[in-house]
Amino acid sequence: MITKDIICITCPQGCIIKVSGDPEKGEIASCEGFKCPRGKKYAENEFVHPVRILTSSVKTEGASVPLVAVRTSAPIAKELQMEAMEEIKKITVSGKLVPGDVIVENFMGTGADLVASGSLE
Ligand code: SF4
Repeated sequence: MITKDIICITCPQGCIIKVSGDPEKGEIASCEGFKCPRGKKYAENEFVHPVRILTSSVKTEGASVPLVAVRTSAPIAKELQMEAMEEIKKITVSGKLVPGDVIVENFMGTGADLVASGSLE
């Protein structure tokens, strides 16, 4: 059993929510300090399955800039982030891109796409 203080980022109040349990087993013993149900849900999810939007950049070919910014279209498991960075290093893009263009669909089977967040002329 462990206890974590999780800062809720769902709204600007930034409540500090104390969650106890066994995240490996997905078990939550207690959750305190939230001021609304959205915060409780956020803290419990963050405790057992933390996720993050991944932001990075990929190499370009035949463009005036060497790199273009990318991000995942939805949060992916925090534990996948290092592996995802290694995958991103293997990618090279060319041609025109505008923010939101999909570079890799269902990136690493996460259900999120890897999309451009910058432009390429
Ligand atoms: S618990 Fe509710 S009120 Fe507190 S930061 Fe999260 S969303 Fe905002």
